[in-house]
Amino acid sequence: MTDHGPQPVERQLPTEESRDLISLVRDLTQREIAPTAAEEEDAGHFPRGVFGLLSASGLLALPYAEEFGGGDQPYEVYLQVLEELAAARLTVGLGVSVHTLACHALAGYGTKEQRQTYLPAMLGGGLLGAYCLSEPAAGSDAAALRTRATRVGDTWTIEGTKAWTTHGGIADFYTVLARTGGEGPHGITAFLVPGDAPGLTAAPPERKMGMKGSPTAQLHFDGVEVADARRLGDEGQGFAIALSALDSGRLGIAACAVGVAQAALDQALSFTQERRQFGHPVADFQGLRFMLADMATQIEAGRALYLAAARLRDTGRPFAKQAAMAKLFCSDTAMRVTTDAVQLMGGYGYTADFPAERYMREAKALQIVEGTNQIQRMVVARHLAGPESH
Ligand SMILES: Cc1cc2nc3c(=O)[nH]c(=O)nc-3n(C[C@H](O)[C@H](O)[C@H](O)COP(=O)(O)OP(=O)(O)OC[C@H]3O[C@@H](n4cnc5c(N)ncnc54)[C@H](O)[C@@H]3O)c2cc1C
Repeated sequence: MTDHGPQPVERQLPTEESRDLISLVRDLTQREIAPTAAEEEDAGHFPRGVFGLLSASGLLALPYAEEFGGGDQPYEVYLQVLEELAAARLTVGLGVSVHTLACHALAGYGTKEQRQTYLPAMLGGGLLGAYCLSEPAAGSDAAALRTRATRVGDTWTIEGTKAWTTHGGIADFYTVLARTGGEGPHGITAFLVPGDAPGLTAAPPERKMGMKGSPTAQLHFDGVEVADARRLGDEGQGFAIALSALDSGRLGIAACAVGVAQAALDQALSFTQERRQFGHPVADFQGLRFMLADMATQIEAGRALYLAAARLRDTGRPFAKQAAMAKLFCSDTAMRVTTDAVQLMGGYGYTADFPAERYMREAKALQIVEGTNQIQRMVVARHLAGPESH
């Protein structure tokens, strides 16, 4: 390899084991994910086989305790794995992030018995998870959700509709937030619902701008019965659990965003070094060189920001503000960098013959999922200035 052009990302990794892990992931993405990514995204094909492989390799369990089949890896390592996966194909990186989010409630708030019963299969048994918070009329205002769970004896019956569920219709388990009490955030409880529960059906997947291989669907709960043994945490604790899952999940989105941005920069760099106009590679022109420099700088800053937040989390310190900042900054960076990558490639960048336009469509989703970037700004501002007075 020459000294110029795309180079593998220089990663700060804490252990020999984590360096080996990143090598394994790079090998896997090059062999199993990147070669078919464009074609499969075009076809709207979800790579279930890849998720089987990830599960068997322990890559769906990285940040969880070894005792329950997890990989015991710090977040700073898990997130860099996600970044590598997302750079190869966002459907895979985001899918792993959502699966991890779906395991969070049980791993963090389940009883020991629940963890022993369910977690090993969720983490390494080939199962795929999904997380159901949003509803058609409750998006940013998630605490207004209306799906209701009613208890009779030891059984809860769930009625309602969830919206925008990543892996909706194909997941093996759903972490579902439902209303068990009065209005507002304190009337919500979390449940672990099996994918094949009678009365649970999925609508056809949404027709999205990007990530077409990742199914996003409405789910209808029509008298779905769930044993009380599948309630996660206390009654009324569900919204706090959901928000704690999202603090960690936002770091996953930030890492995915950096992966997509890095892939776009690598593509733009290769292209502009090859493409000649006016007798020179277009990468010789200062206007383009400065764009490349800005893209690389923003990507490094994003990576440093999500890693700083991850290290706070890894050392047991509060990280919610930094997680919101990282999600906001990294996804805005991904949008800017991918848009610039298309521009750097001229007409070619605008065609589906190169992945730059796909990266641009994918980056847009990251500014919306797990709390839009307006909501991230609200979270950061609340940490700075306290709650709004209105
Ligand atoms: C690809 C994809 C995958 C998703 N996966 C999941 C999933 O797996 N599970 C899940 O539960 N959800 C999922 N979502 C849903 C996602 O979290 C919501 O789309 C998001 O929270 C926004 O909700 P909304 O779409 O209803 O927009 P709305 O809340 O209706 O927002 C509309 C606009 O108003 C702005 N806005 C709203 N309130 C405020 C405010 N107070 N101040 C300033 N601006 C405001 C928003 O930023 C936005 O620009 C997914 C969404 C997408 C697109």
